[in-house]
Amino acid sequence: MKRALVCGAGGFIGGHLVKKLKREGYWVRGVDIKPHEFAPPPVPPNIGGPGGQADEFLLLDLRDPQNCRAALTLPAPRSPQLWGVRGAGVGESTFDEVYQLAADMGGMGFISVAECEVLRNNALINIHMAHTAAEMGVARYFFSSSVCIYRDMQPDEPPLTEDDAIPAEPDNEYGWEKLYAERVAMAYGRRYPMKVRIARFENCYGSEGTWNGGREKAPAAICRKVAEAEDGGTIEVWGDGTAIRVFTYVDDLVDGIYTLMQSDLEGPVNLGSDERVTVADLVRTVIEVSGKRIKVKYVPGPVGVHARNFSKARIKSLGWEAKVSLKEGVAQTYLWIEAQVKAARKTE
Ligand code: NAD
Repeated sequence: MKRALVCGAGGFIGGHLVKKLKREGYWVRGVDIKPHEFAPPPVPPNIGGPGGQADEFLLLDLRDPQNCRAALTLPAPRSPQLWGVRGAGVGESTFDEVYQLAADMGGMGFISVAECEVLRNNALINIHMAHTAAEMGVARYFFSSSVCIYRDMQPDEPPLTEDDAIPAEPDNEYGWEKLYAERVAMAYGRRYPMKVRIARFENCYGSEGTWNGGREKAPAAICRKVAEAEDGGTIEVWGDGTAIRVFTYVDDLVDGIYTLMQSDLEGPVNLGSDERVTVADLVRTVIEVSGKRIKVKYVPGPVGVHARNFSKARIKSLGWEAKVSLKEGVAQTYLWIEAQVKAARKTE
């Protein structure tokens, strides 16, 4: 049985990835600085707190290199000849696959103000995890990057390929850190026998993710606002609705992560749906799915870049493509967020 470590398993995508890896037959350890808020209670044995459906879940701060080592260390397997894989201490072994998704992050509202935290915390996590994984002999290492590493675009521009990231001009510090962390991971992939795979995610949404509190991203925030509004009411949305985005449903995204990790595709790979929509389209879709009559007031706020358009040729070369339409994905997400809003009201 293959063993996988999911860093950031207490978060949105990490939580869904744990479930995917369990379906694929892996033994999975999750690690995070906090428990998963929405995943069902853990199945024992479990250490440290709820971790979705991971076989084991550790609560550790991965900014600390000692904690990275603890996360990566497995007890000795029964057979002594399997002990002490390259770099691991005597009586220790490490993981076949490491998925590094831990990050101090959120939507534009968070990223636009927490630039010091984003740069410091994420650089520490990514440097220490890549270094420790390579030293301990991990065979495959996945890093979750973002299309935030690209420059701003105009609505009618042709797609950018992965190579167009350079010369670099990300719109925010989150993107700069991701670009640096890609380079860290790739350097370790060159200098150690560790296969590194990197996906640049494009706006992921779905259930069991942050939906309130200030770190939520646009799809979750809009679903929450519509779910909270009375029929006939008005919601406020940042910007003017014309920004162009791609929203990728989480089930498609974790399938893409897994497909890429098992492949021979080196270098960063764009991972997202083909459906380019405006923020106004997203808002309309949420309102339609809710069945309510809602008016929209666009107000000033942190919006980010004007437009996104990226080639998906590399990930499609592996046979992957997004299967869930925006309407189908929003319908699932809205139902889940509406249930959270109702549950929160009951406890008020
Ligand atoms: P998330 O915030 O739900 O998950 C990240 C997890 O990392 C959280 O549970 C958090 O507690 C954990 N974490 C933060 N600091 C930590 C630390 N010091 N030690 C251990 N764990 C720590 O975010 P997500 O949406 O699931 O994103 C997962 C990854 O994908 C991140 O690297 C993110 O930058 C990247 N990404 C996400 C999107 C998206 O649309 N959601 C887009 C592009 C890239």
